[in-house]
Amino acid sequence: MFDPLQTDIKYLKGVGPLRAKTLGEDLNIFTLRDLLYNFPYKYIDRSVIHQIKNLTDGMPYVLLRGQIVSKNIEGTGRRERLVALFSDGTGYVELVWFNCIKTLEKKLAFNHTYVLLGKPTSFNGRISIAHPELEDAQTTESQPLTMQPHYHTSERMKRQGFSSRTMGELVGRAFDMLHGKPLAETLPQYMISEYHLMGVDEAIHKVHRPRCANELPEASRRLKFEELFYLQLDILQYTQNRKLHYDGFVFSKVGDYFMRFYNERLPFELTNAQKRVVKEVRKDVATGSQMNRLLQGDVGSGKTMVALLCCLLALDNGFQACIMAPTEILAEQHYQSIVEQIGELPIKVDLLTGDVKGKRRKAVLDGVADGSVKILVGTHALIEPSVSFLNLGFVVIDEQHRFGVKQRAKLWGKNVRPPHILVMTATPIPRTLAMTVYGDLDVSVIDELPPGRKPVQTVHYRQTDRGKLYQGIRYQLQLGRQVYVVYPLIKENEKLDLRDAETGYNQLVDVFRDYKVGIVHGKMKPVDKENVMRAFKKGDIHILVSTTVIEVGVNVPNASVMVIENAERFGLAQLHQLRGRVGRGAEQSYCILMTKDNLSDTSSRRMRVMVDSTDGFVIAEEDMKLRGPGDIEGTAQSGMPFDLKIANIVKDQELLEVAREAASQVLVGDPHHNLPQNEVVWAQLARLKKTQINFSAIS
Ligand code: ADP
Ligand code: MG
Repeated sequence: MFDPLQTDIKYLKGVGPLRAKTLGEDLNIFTLRDLLYNFPYKYIDRSVIHQIKNLTDGMPYVLLRGQIVSKNIEGTGRRERLVALFSDGTGYVELVWFNCIKTLEKKLAFNHTYVLLGKPTSFNGRISIAHPELEDAQTTESQPLTMQPHYHTSERMKRQGFSSRTMGELVGRAFDMLHGKPLAETLPQYMISEYHLMGVDEAIHKVHRPRCANELPEASRRLKFEELFYLQLDILQYTQNRKLHYDGFVFSKVGDYFMRFYNERLPFELTNAQKRVVKEVRKDVATGSQMNRLLQGDVGSGKTMVALLCCLLALDNGFQACIMAPTEILAEQHYQSIVEQIGELPIKVDLLTGDVKGKRRKAVLDGVADGSVKILVGTHALIEPSVSFLNLGFVVIDEQHRFGVKQRAKLWGKNVRPPHILVMTATPIPRTLAMTVYGDLDVSVIDELPPGRKPVQTVHYRQTDRGKLYQGIRYQLQLGRQVYVVYPLIKENEKLDLRDAETGYNQLVDVFRDYKVGIVHGKMKPVDKENVMRAFKKGDIHILVSTTVIEVGVNVPNASVMVIENAERFGLAQLHQLRGRVGRGAEQSYCILMTKDNLSDTSSRRMRVMVDSTDGFVIAEEDMKLRGPGDIEGTAQSGMPFDLKIANIVKDQELLEVAREAASQVLVGDPHHNLPQNEVVWAQLARLKKTQINFSAIS
């Protein structure tokens, strides 16, 4: 049957081949359906003009109506900006622009009424708006829509004159093309009534063309439900199939490898939490179904030892194990520490990274293939097709948030049955999130640090405290300790960030003439980078400046100071990760958050959270509250079966659980997919899966 929604987007009036190409490549829009399921990311309510006196920090975009009362170009060079004062008679806001300021400055007229669109933030209690959009009040007021939808556009689209407004027009034409024929329903009627959902046709129309703000919540609830429902259905169905079709290897015994290591080589007493997790894993791998376990444990909680013990368990049962790390440095570090810990025990451990080439590589591959290599440590190199194990039974993936789901999928092909998988992360994620992202992943938690650790002391300094900072660093250096200084590296601004780091480096070289300062950044060749890191590990470099986040997980126990420059530009979880690089030895360690002098209230609060808490779980929670969801590290890269276009698995957790319940009922009630009322469900799922790569066959 012909489905008008499947019409190629290039046949829509105003699109054509060139724009169709852009839409496909940049926004994944290929058909009319894709266009209609590409929702606005925000709306500007043009019916509400705010008063300046009522503005508060954290408000969404607001409209103001008023006049410019002063304008000045302030600062020089990089910090040059245009600052204007805007008033509507109830108060003043400060407007700030950093780009094209000369042209703008000329354009801004006094005695002229503007309608301004912007997002207020407060600095020390004063409200200001960065890069507001100003429009002539007269032009704006002639616009028909009061709720104006805004659509994402790419850089290329902007260059092709393809604005958010154009997108809105295309949506209008798509509706026209359907000639008033309603969109076919995508959920069964009984579900629509049971969960009080709006029909799909109405919801799609309203979400693109709301007449007022009140129409939005119900429309978006319906579309979010639909999205979450199919997501959960896919995951649950996959899980069900996997349990039916895949057995896991049975590790039935604890043997010599494990016992000898435990009795002869274990360098410390395990914490209770470590013991518990090892037990949980042992129980899992003995059941005959494949283990998929997520191990969460704060930085420094000793996840690596747990991983090693689990690997030994695999060895005892005649299997090989591998440990995968996201970077070469980390892989090498794991390799070295495992070799050291294993000592004289007869266990062959080897390392495979992109750096291992030629004869050496062949030797490793041969050893893995003939089974003489028992534990293989490495990077992504491990999942390449050329790596074939004799009998791989257990896989550890360290610091999962940098390891894509697609990559993990490749592990499945490494043996006749999928190996047991232990994913380790220091970034805690809420349980529902874990369930959604990983299907039926079980979760273990190490909620205890090894004894004798002193919590890292955290302080927040501003630029004016730089003298104090240097004093502190000098004191620690005199004690023989080492120091990290980290600068953020934000993609859009890489050049400037790098300059910041280099300036900082030169300054440190100047201030600490009697010590060796090193620098690593992303633009360096990997070998050079590794050399610097190695020198730091050995203690030949005393202060290490770095732009990239220092390789997650690097272990230099003698480093006792972590200075984070421009700390306000990092996420809390990231700050916490960085802080975890120190405090690994017995002595007191420090984390210094350097920020600019004038901080927004939100930023000040975020620094406060870091100073007050060293608990990763508390911080993750605060992070969610302060930054809002969708930003949580780990979720963006972890990949899900379908891209979510409107729902947010953190913000919409409640709806997620409802949708999961609905999906589970369908699966249980209709195991053979033959109930007439669910016909629409299976058809829609098949359609979604045809257009999207199914990543859920993975976790
Ligand atoms: P993470 O969980 O961040 O990966 P690591 O596994 O790197 O942490 O462990 C951090 C440090 O703590 C390592 O130097 C490790 O040897 C040490 N460690 C781990 N478990 C214990 C323990 N039970 N007692 C003492 N030290 C431990
Ligand atoms: Mg680690």
